[in-house]
Amino acid sequence: MKKDIKTLTLKELAGHLEELKYPKYHAQQIFSWLYQKGAGDFSSMSDLSLKLRRDLEKVFYISNFILKEKLISRDGTIKYLFELEDKNIIESVLIPHTERNTVCLSTQVGCKFSCQFCASGALGFVRNLNQAEILNQILFIKSDTKEDITNIVFMGIGEPLDNYDTVLNSIRAINAKYGFNIGQRKITVSTAGVVEGIKKLSREGLQIELSVSLHGSTDGKRDKIMPINKKFPLKKLIPAIKEFAKLTKRKITFEYMLLGGFNTTIEDARQLISLTKGINCKVNLIPFNATGQGDFLSPAKLEMLFFRDHLLKNKTDVTIRQPRGQDIQAACGQLRLRRINQ
Ligand code: SAH
Repeated sequence: MKKDIKTLTLKELAGHLEELKYPKYHAQQIFSWLYQKGAGDFSSMSDLSLKLRRDLEKVFYISNFILKEKLISRDGTIKYLFELEDKNIIESVLIPHTERNTVCLSTQVGCKFSCQFCASGALGFVRNLNQAEILNQILFIKSDTKEDITNIVFMGIGEPLDNYDTVLNSIRAINAKYGFNIGQRKITVSTAGVVEGIKKLSREGLQIELSVSLHGSTDGKRDKIMPINKKFPLKKLIPAIKEFAKLTKRKITFEYMLLGGFNTTIEDARQLISLTKGINCKVNLIPFNATGQGDFLSPAKLEMLFFRDHLLKNKTDVTIRQPRGQDIQAACGQLRLRRINQ
């Protein structure tokens, strides 16, 4: 059976070429055909010899997605639903800004983590995505929109640090000069708090951004909405984050979703301030985007401002994230859930 060439790292591809008795440097050429020029077949790789192109074709194929649905928001955000080879469905989002275009990637089909407010976990976990399926999300969106993709966030369906090796290999391909050539500081990994993954990531020698979905400032609150907190409570999570900040010298982002009437009191704000004290970090407040999951409410405008102002008074670096694509169900996993439940 032929292998999907985009599941290989640059090193693995070089190894295959050596086995076929070709020089290793062809791997870089092939990578740039795949990821920079978006080649869909080997015959178009015109700077490779005909013989190499034929030999590649004998063992590899170049995968692509089937587009199932595409929704364009009034604010320019585009949500894509893709069908994989095994008919599973994933979603990806393009978020255009004036000076950048961000693609939000899924890393798994479904999610194991069952955060109470999130639509992705509602259907359970199916499987990890492979590297080709992660990179094809960028390739498809790039070719569909003809836009330059400048930023990548691993904030779609799934937990990136629970598909660690594949996500890391994908990051390397996204960053590689012969890959997408996107700077490490333009790549963000978001985690619900997988402590062993954070520890490992801090030792990879990468300068990527780490975003931690906190959403509660005490174990009591976090336990209620994020089951992962039972395994990795704050006394394990916070030291791992501090270590990441120290080893990588990067500023951490804490995502704090404001759930109306649940985690928005002055006491919550005080605890958040003391939890983040001494960490080089910023807090990103996200208004809950109602998904129909649980009994949660979106926060009232004044509730959000009150919470933010309390953090500001205490010199916490804080912003409120502008929700994007609300009219197209762009929150994590919402569209896939609706599609499967139809
Ligand atoms: N598993 C990773 C990445 C995927 S979720 C993580 O937990 O960080 C990406 C972000 O969207 C997380 O901060 C998640 O908590 C948030 N999110 C999920 N559902 C949401 C909703 N309905 N409204 C607002 N943010 C949501």
